[in-house]
Amino acid sequence: MQIPRSDERHRNLIGGEWRPPSTGEHEPCLNPADTREVIGLWPRSGAADAKAAVDAAAKAFPDWSRTPGPERGRILGRAHQILKAKIDLLAEALCREEGKTLSESRGEVMKGLNLLEFYSGEGFRTHGKTLPSETRQSLMLTLRQPVGPVTLITPWNFPFAIPVWKTAPALVAGCTVVLKPASLTPVCTHLLAEALVEAGLPPGVINVVTGPGGAIGNALVDDPRIRAVSFTGSNSVGLKLYERAARRGIKVTCEMGGKNPVIVDSDADLDEAIVDTIYSAFGYQGQKCSACSRLIVLEENYDRVVKRLVEAAASLRVGNPEEPGITVGPVIDETAYRRMLETIETGKKEATLAFQGEAPPEGFFVPPTIFTDVKPHMLLSCEEIFGPVLSVLKVRDLAEAIQVANDTDYALTAGFFSRSPANIERVKAELVAGNVYINRSCTGAVVGRHPFGGFKMSGGGTKAGGGDYLLQFMVPRVVTENIMRHGFAPDTTPEFREPFGAAMAERD
Ligand code: NAP
Repeated sequence: MQIPRSDERHRNLIGGEWRPPSTGEHEPCLNPADTREVIGLWPRSGAADAKAAVDAAAKAFPDWSRTPGPERGRILGRAHQILKAKIDLLAEALCREEGKTLSESRGEVMKGLNLLEFYSGEGFRTHGKTLPSETRQSLMLTLRQPVGPVTLITPWNFPFAIPVWKTAPALVAGCTVVLKPASLTPVCTHLLAEALVEAGLPPGVINVVTGPGGAIGNALVDDPRIRAVSFTGSNSVGLKLYERAARRGIKVTCEMGGKNPVIVDSDADLDEAIVDTIYSAFGYQGQKCSACSRLIVLEENYDRVVKRLVEAAASLRVGNPEEPGITVGPVIDETAYRRMLETIETGKKEATLAFQGEAPPEGFFVPPTIFTDVKPHMLLSCEEIFGPVLSVLKVRDLAEAIQVANDTDYALTAGFFSRSPANIERVKAELVAGNVYINRSCTGAVVGRHPFGGFKMSGGGTKAGGGDYLLQFMVPRVVTENIMRHGFAPDTTPEFREPFGAAMAERD
């Protein structure tokens, strides 16, 4: 396992073989901090490759679905050990493919490893139950069975952790997988697949097809052999996938955008609130789905908060994420870079520019930016910007703060800083978000302890990093059997006869 060289042509993993794309086309993965650096050439696959991957997943499904859970768990456990020995290499690869600082990249690798270990353990747990019978003659069982081959589609902003959060539960549930990473960040997904193959995953159980979502997405979703789709990404793509998958009546999970609010109460500890808000809003350039993008401050505290926020933001250092001391790297690509600069220009017309940092002129570096006097109806308040831009809103009291925080189509993460136990209880009950964080940063969910995911336009309420996530890859069946036997009828099928026959032969 190594970081790809610039001229290395990569392949898709289909049916246990690394195959070149049928199109014969590749495209470079560029380091967003320095686009002169190419991190390998990646398949620009077409629909034929998608179909071949589904063929392989469908062929491998019967055996894999019958493999005992502990055996599936053991293979994931071996992959975990293989990747654990490569933490530094993975962190470096992430830093270069997605522009995350080295320390944040290491955090993502650790998160991916924790997910792999967690779901490996799930293979050893039971996932059905015996229901109490209403009569002495009946036995009732709930059996959870793998749904079938599944398609997993992942975004660029966590190119190691999100492929793990989908692949590991799908595999341990007994599904075979076709995984499509984001075109911009294929590197770490391939390193993950390599480790799973090395760990002993049979051919066809995991298939990886790299290529443009617009060209291969439909083939991966519409194929009748695919029985569930799990997607993380933008609302525009996710909502279309919901529609397509719903037409076929298959399971679909979409984890989408956010417009995450953090409320600062009038008695909040600002030493905590400012540091954690700077981290939540500008860590990984504001490109975490959980990032804080609206800071809602009670008027009593407003001036103090803005002053300290701006002073703290001035300490952010923008530059090459591989350099120690850099806290803000580049945004992912030129499209994102241009969109964000335009958003900042629009913001200047509707609100007050309270802070703008400095950014290197080359590369996709967007200066960290804070707007104040932002009102709830403004674009800055309503649209997911997905970059280092923070909007500050002033409110009269906690009731208005909660109302403004909840007044969004999204419900992913939300935060609250306060020293008032009564206010904390109120916010716990009333703040509408999948993950609510009190007196801490609103990013950085811990695997197993803060299962992560939103609802409303942020998703369907599935929680990655928790046991429930397996359910989207399983179908429940209830079997009710009348176990009263009237006389003994010896079974004559070979499976039942042979063991007895063999035992008898040995004894004789
Ligand atoms: P995106 O543009 O929607 O892409 C996501 C994935 O969908 C990529 O692999 C993309 O492929 C693929 N895709 C594009 N068009 C498709 C189609 N027609 N059919 C099937 N697949 C298609 O999203 P993104 O820009 O990568 O990710 C950023 C978004 O993800 C943000 O909105 C963020 O909030 C959200 N997100 C949410 C969560 C959460 O847990 N809720 C977590 C992380 C990110 P290509 O790369 O080839 O275009």
